[in-house]
Amino acid sequence: MKQTTRPITSIPEPHAGRLERARATLRARRLDGYLITHRPDQYWLTGFTGEDGQVLLTARGVTLLSDGRFGETAEREAPWARRVLRKQRTPEPTVREIRQSRLTRLGFEPDHLSFRWHDALRKQAKPTRLVPCEGLIRDLRICKDDGEIEAIQAAIDVAEAAFLELEPRIRAGMTEREVAAQLVFEMTRRGASGPSFEPIVASGPHASLPHHEAGDRAIGAGEGVLIDWGARVGWHVSDLTRMVWPTSIPRALKTVYTVVKEAHDAAIAVVRPGVKASKVDRVARQIIRDAGHAFVHALGHGIGLEVHEAPRLGLKSDTTLEAGMVVTIEPGVYLPGVGGVRIESDVLIADGGARVLSTLPY
Ligand code: ZN
Ligand code: ZN
Repeated sequence: MKQTTRPITSIPEPHAGRLERARATLRARRLDGYLITHRPDQYWLTGFTGEDGQVLLTARGVTLLSDGRFGETAEREAPWARRVLRKQRTPEPTVREIRQSRLTRLGFEPDHLSFRWHDALRKQAKPTRLVPCEGLIRDLRICKDDGEIEAIQAAIDVAEAAFLELEPRIRAGMTEREVAAQLVFEMTRRGASGPSFEPIVASGPHASLPHHEAGDRAIGAGEGVLIDWGARVGWHVSDLTRMVWPTSIPRALKTVYTVVKEAHDAAIAVVRPGVKASKVDRVARQIIRDAGHAFVHALGHGIGLEVHEAPRLGLKSDTTLEAGMVVTIEPGVYLPGVGGVRIESDVLIADGGARVLSTLPY
């Protein structure tokens, strides 16, 4: 195991500010350390992109535990952090760091620490107490700074440009898989590191399945196609849904389309700081229910480093919207055996209200 302690170099923004906010949260929760085991949290906090990584954050220090493959990456991306390059991904080096830091209460993310690791740390790091602390970094990531908003916008721009290129070429006879593959190709060609998730391309009756996977079905004449896709540019993502009607919109979906559009627009109209996320969901849900349809999923979710991150815009969400949050607004109506309609936009909660970051017509 190789350890490096460097003279303290100053920590550049945005990470200095993020570390400071994370430490303030630790103090508020009476923790003297926090073990970060979720990669997007690790990246957000330190800028370190290595696949193997753990971050031990204490009142004064930041230790990055990784392995030899990522030594150079760590040195470049977070030269200010103490680096521990372990030979194997076993708990012992982490235990050693915890013990050396003489921690009393060490927080961890229960969703991202395996039972095996938790068990080992709990036994071997005594007397340090392990305290489950759900979403400590997740909640700090919820409001985006200007750099993050720019990065998300870049991911939206790439996804939209790819769609615009492909849309006129979508015809009856093309398979869902072909459409998905071309969409990924067009995004990658424009600078995406990949799709933010496998595109959903649901033709005809498949569109009643909100999370249909693109398959070998060919688009039929007169059918609609629901496309839900996004790009990952660098580490940031976009998430959009549009309907494509290669010939014309089927009669059975015409009024449904109007209802979904109305719900989508009405939700965006009430979005502003101070409004409950559950209220935004309720506004869209009511319009869909009044039209006699069910709305089977939440209205939206945050996007950033992950496709589904906080906040959730659902009936049971207790989040109050704040400036800087970036969320999707995606009402949908699904008619089994017939098809479905969903429209999804990416929206920034700005001081004056919603700023819709996506620009594709719908
Ligand atoms: Zn989506
Ligand atoms: Zn979504």
